[in-house]
Amino acid sequence: MAGLSTPEVPRQARDGSVLPDRIAQRDEAPPAAETADWAVAGLLEAATSPEPVRVEAWVITVNGQEVVAVATRAEAEQAIAEIQTEYKETVLKDAATVEQLQFLESIGVVPRQVDPAEIRTKDEAKEVLRYGTEKRIFYTVQRGDTLWDIAVRQGLTVEDLIAANPGIEPELLQPGQQISMTVAEPYVHLASTEVQVYTERIPFPEEVQEDPDLWPWQVRVIQPGEHGEREVTVRIHRQDGQEVGREVLEVRVLKEPVKQIVARGTRQAPPLGTGQFYWPVQGSISDGFGWTGRRYHNGVDIVAPPGTPVHAADSGTVVFAGWQGRYGLLVQIDHGEGKIVTYYAHLSKVAVSPGEQVERGQVVGYVGSTGYSTGPHLHFEVRVDGRWVNPLKFYP
Ligand SMILES: [Zn+2]
Repeated sequence: MAGLSTPEVPRQARDGSVLPDRIAQRDEAPPAAETADWAVAGLLEAATSPEPVRVEAWVITVNGQEVVAVATRAEAEQAIAEIQTEYKETVLKDAATVEQLQFLESIGVVPRQVDPAEIRTKDEAKEVLRYGTEKRIFYTVQRGDTLWDIAVRQGLTVEDLIAANPGIEPELLQPGQQISMTVAEPYVHLASTEVQVYTERIPFPEEVQEDPDLWPWQVRVIQPGEHGEREVTVRIHRQDGQEVGREVLEVRVLKEPVKQIVARGTRQAPPLGTGQFYWPVQGSISDGFGWTGRRYHNGVDIVAPPGTPVHAADSGTVVFAGWQGRYGLLVQIDHGEGKIVTYYAHLSKVAVSPGEQVERGQVVGYVGSTGYSTGPHLHFEVRVDGRWVNPLKFYP
């Protein structure tokens, strides 16, 4: 405890060197006559010698050792009782039943003649019994302080401060909070046994079902789980507030949890392109591939009524599905790491999303006339290595 002084009185009292030992131990206060005799003797003594004045007091003993003196027997007994009451009110506040609360030491109260300077108030006596000193030193937490800062400034270690402040939460220091700088060396220790009853959540179990219609990255909750609740009765053993043992006496389920059921896909991704193309839409070719008079046509146009389903020419991955300028609503399918890509343009509606795996013949959209189009038709385009190829080459 560098830099901090602790009062010497109680520590010296611990070895009995300060408290007088001249009067034999008695259980009760001396009779009035004896007190009067003693008072006279004391006065004579004071008048004739430098011996200090002694007064009647009551000393609290711990395991037979005289620890601290108070003026009256009632104060001594109150100090002892209040230590227990305060422990009950703080440490055992959540207890349903306190089964046991006792000092580990044997505590007594004996009358003694003492130097008046040795007499402590009831509250000081409690501090001495609980912390080994009646003058604990406190520090008031300032904004921004950490326990480490405070320890360094006071020449202490963080461990000292934690020992001096049982139950302190170093991460939750509040400005204005009082922190004891005095590591307790208590004369008395309390042991307690309590029964506590509390409720807690029961986590729900999860059941996974395989679903061949879902892709492996798709998870669907079929039945959402619900936490249950249980009431737990425990017996807790403590020493000076610290839990030293716990027994579970009873667990009563108040509400059973509801298991969560999820479906996880097991569907196999289709192979990249079979090479055998599926004709994308029922209809007739109105415009072929290549130079047709004034313009170069980079695909084939297939006329069909609006809303006619448009099928994927081969299995693959949707790389685009949405609006794209002249193409209007467009679906692009990659059939093999970008090597072969098919385009389905001017759709009235798309039926797939980017990233989706599609199979050969799967409906990917519907015929429309969106974008640069003069009537309902499918503009079907095939690119190999980024270059336009006549789609009809894939339909031998
Ligand atoms: Zn076209």
